[in-house]
Amino acid sequence: MNPFNELGIRHDIVNAITELGFEKPTPIQESAIPLLLSGSNDFVGLAQTGTGKTAAFGLPLLELIDYSKNHPQALVLCPTRELCLQISNDIKNYAKNLPNVNVVAVYGGAAIVNQLKDIKRGVQIVVATPGRMLDILNRKAIDFTQVRYVVLDEADEMLNMGFQDDINDILSTTPDEKKTWLFSATMPREVREIAKKYMTDPKELTMGKQNTGNVNIEHEFYIVKARDKYAAFKRIVDFNPEIFGIVFCRTKIETQEIAESLVKDGYNADSLHGDLSQQQRDKVMKRYRDKNLQLLIATDVAARGIDVNNVTHVINYALPDEIENYTHRSGRTGRAGKTGISICIINAKETHKIRQIEKVIGKQFTKAEIPSGFDVVEKQLFGLVHKVHNVEVNDKQIDQYIPRIMDEFADMSKEDIIKRFASLEFNRFLDYYKNAPDLNATADDRGRDTERGSRQTGNSAYTRLFINLGSVDDFTRGDLLGYICNNSGISGRNVGKIDMKGVFSFFEVENEQVDKIISGFKSVDFHGRAVKIEVSGEAASSGERRGGGNRGERSGGGYQGGSRSGSGSGYGGYKGGGNRERSGGGGFRDFSGKSREERSSGSGGSSRGGERRRRSN
Ligand code: AMP
Repeated sequence: MNPFNELGIRHDIVNAITELGFEKPTPIQESAIPLLLSGSNDFVGLAQTGTGKTAAFGLPLLELIDYSKNHPQALVLCPTRELCLQISNDIKNYAKNLPNVNVVAVYGGAAIVNQLKDIKRGVQIVVATPGRMLDILNRKAIDFTQVRYVVLDEADEMLNMGFQDDINDILSTTPDEKKTWLFSATMPREVREIAKKYMTDPKELTMGKQNTGNVNIEHEFYIVKARDKYAAFKRIVDFNPEIFGIVFCRTKIETQEIAESLVKDGYNADSLHGDLSQQQRDKVMKRYRDKNLQLLIATDVAARGIDVNNVTHVINYALPDEIENYTHRSGRTGRAGKTGISICIINAKETHKIRQIEKVIGKQFTKAEIPSGFDVVEKQLFGLVHKVHNVEVNDKQIDQYIPRIMDEFADMSKEDIIKRFASLEFNRFLDYYKNAPDLNATADDRGRDTERGSRQTGNSAYTRLFINLGSVDDFTRGDLLGYICNNSGISGRNVGKIDMKGVFSFFEVENEQVDKIISGFKSVDFHGRAVKIEVSGEAASSGERRGGGNRGERSGGGYQGGSRSGSGSGYGGYKGGGNRERSGGGGFRDFSGKSREERSSGSGGSSRGGERRRRSN
């Protein structure tokens, strides 16, 4: 008998989940399903995402619902729209062989009318984010008086996001005798209090040690000088040609800077942060989920609830401010039994924070060395060799050309031919990396290191500032310099390099002048739009370009991301830039098939504020 049947799950559901690849229950499913199926307990499950907890509560819910009745019987609350959609889709998938199951997803950032219509049609399981749920309850558009089960998923995240009051209000509309099942990755005092307040004698299950980073995750840290951080990060990526990663930054601006620089340097990256509209976020997430995007650069808040399988690396480009967040970040990899690596790129002064994180996750970090240029070249070369060896050959299409190709190589030995194919990419990496510096910093670099200052000039007397005006506002560098000086009263001599972008720009200014500039621009508006100036996070425009960065050389590059449409095989060290050549002459195109212009006004890493603007005179 199928082990899920043995746990008490009916055949129709087992058939559906078998199609999803669930062969045997995960540990949390094994323990929680029989408990929850009894329907008579409150429950607290301490489990990370990726442990299979959606099915742990979803399958019992499907068993306990009375499908002859079409009113809300179960309510699942979760922190984010992404998670909400995911849970509702998962439950629908588990139930696909059952007739008359109605699951509705209720979340903000989408038209409420459609959700109201869905509810009106009849629903047994509501999966919701708290804000929108409360809105619908306040409109008296749903009746929770017959709800029998409430699931609070990622309870710690919901509290982190300030949903405490909303949850209280929502739960007050449900009957006292309902059962509450709470899942949380961590168990801070606030979550304990919720458990105390809403539950009677809950059964508790802990999957792994509390707060423990997933056992499948290895934790590594690299020490670099702040000014080398971006170059070091790229080297790590180059050393891992198959990477499919999430990169965490501290600020929205930093995510954008990094994503934009990566795209410029030929990588397949985009950013996800709170300034994007819901539609833009969905687009980025879809590309990432579909694996048409290799590196997702995100803030903690934006990445909440992201649940994508097969993430190979989580990179902490900046350490989280809250150590607890490290667990959430690293939990994005090593899911569903896969292994994953969580990397921190730090400066020498931050080593104590690694020790603090180790205490929280109960696991040791490995100190890793930034690979040397030669290591990268070797890794890329063998990545390429491996790829050539495993490439799928389309005999039907290629056969017609084979005689001509054979002719071309008639005078060469097999060894010569192989050497030439390998050299095609090898030379480019070799040229680029042959003089690459050692990027590892030592403990001696402590104190001499600085996060700020001009990395372009290596001059820490300057601070890099962001301004939300750029070339689309018809500014030239000179215009912008004048504009900055006029509004802040500083002299042009105090301003360093100006880096004009489309809808925003960066400029360097002497450290002593920063406050003057920021206060000078406090209430300045440009054609009705508030001008924003902020100290930039660590900018991402230093030195190294990807793999030599000579994009022109890539044109014939047959190895780039052979499969735009899809399978993981599209990733190999060479894809980023390679896609440019596949645009059919339409200028820059990334995996999404959008032009740089479209990207800069849309969801892309280069957009700030989204809309394109003209300067009206
Ligand atoms: P979750 O923790 O619910 O977000 O699940 C993480 C991932 O594991 C999801 O992609 C699930 O589809 C998958 N999953 C859940 N349970 C199983 C199982 N028993 N066997 C294989 N995959 C599973």
